[in-house]
Amino acid sequence: MKPTPDYTQNTIARFGAAPAFAERFRFIAPTLPELNDVLKTYSPAFENGLITNAKCVAHFEERAAEQLSVKHAVAVSSCTSGLMLVMRALGLTGEVIVPSFTFFATGHAIRWNELRPVLADCDPKTWNVSVEDIESKITSRTSAIVAVHMYGNPSDVRSLEKLAERRGLRLIFDAAHAFGSKYRGAPIGQFGDAEVFSLSPTKLLVAGEGGLIGTNDPKLAQNLRVMRNYGDDGSYDPEWIGLNARMSEFNAALALAGMPLLEAKVARRNEIAQLYTDRLVSLHGLRFQAVDPRDVHTFKDYSIHITPEEFGLDRDELAAALLAENIETKKYFYPPLHQQKHYKQFKIVDLPATDFVAGRILSLPIYETLSNQVIERITDSIHRIHNYYRTHLTQFTSVKENFHVATT
Ligand SMILES: *Cc1c(COP(=O)(O)O)cnc(C)c1O
Repeated sequence: MKPTPDYTQNTIARFGAAPAFAERFRFIAPTLPELNDVLKTYSPAFENGLITNAKCVAHFEERAAEQLSVKHAVAVSSCTSGLMLVMRALGLTGEVIVPSFTFFATGHAIRWNELRPVLADCDPKTWNVSVEDIESKITSRTSAIVAVHMYGNPSDVRSLEKLAERRGLRLIFDAAHAFGSKYRGAPIGQFGDAEVFSLSPTKLLVAGEGGLIGTNDPKLAQNLRVMRNYGDDGSYDPEWIGLNARMSEFNAALALAGMPLLEAKVARRNEIAQLYTDRLVSLHGLRFQAVDPRDVHTFKDYSIHITPEEFGLDRDELAAALLAENIETKKYFYPPLHQQKHYKQFKIVDLPATDFVAGRILSLPIYETLSNQVIERITDSIHRIHNYYRTHLTQFTSVKENFHVATT
């Protein structure tokens, strides 16, 4: 990928220059294990005809429990089904407090259980849920707290555990992004009543489709194993209205073969994140996710926060300008739950920090196989776009109105 001829000139693709990249490249590309390694694990299952929830799944659960330092790991069909089952198995009632700034699957699991989501605000620095705001929203009807390790940045686990214990609440973590994260040196997966990971291809550990529940509660683990199998414990007279949320052997084989790659993935993503931040930190109007130096972040995603009045253009304009350079971005997670039609009615008070974060967030490409040169060209483009708008379009408020002026 060579820079296009006028790449270094003081203009940008949005206004007619050649784009920074000749072709659009993928926003996400999972690094998968060697197919032969997957097949080595999978072949016995295939050959003896036991192709779902058998030896590969059991082996994967064992390995995962070891790696996560948790007593029980229960493999399921997805993080969403895992969250649904955990909430059902814990017998939650009434209200469940959940961040508004999350992927909608977190909320869906609550609504599928006919529980009432109570939307909490986020911390404007870590972008994780605000423990103070959770506390202010606890009522006599609250049965649980669901927290999300945003992009793989560990939540304030200790404060959440203390709060849950003090108020007699269940604590569940949506750890979709956090396989490989560590809180104060301890792997995410062992905290609260349960933590639920996603193993879909946008996450670091990939099973194709899949989820994994970590818990130290043997009764909960046992119930989840029954519930993922229609709720039938073998009596053919089910104990629960369960689901078919089993993991197939192929998915487990894929996850098993991917496990040895995880550490290098986390390391490379941290390198890329650092490179992004180092090269962007000098720009006015950008903020970055605050990570406790004692913790390990997976950087499932890397996002920047844009203050338009300082940066010179807003998040959507920057996304459009980057796309013109053939750089795809995502707005993870916008709109936040309280702005979506199935969650609007659960907003009882304003969520100013969530509006501030979700309305200004932009996720940049981050995956292991992106080279430093690509990351550098992306950050160069952000600099050039910023400079262009500052030079040619003085007032942020007039960016849209001035659009035609700049193109002529
Ligand atoms: C990806 C994701 C999920 C859903 O995971 P699936 O395995 O696809 O069900 C849930 N929560 C968050 C925060 C996610 O990013």
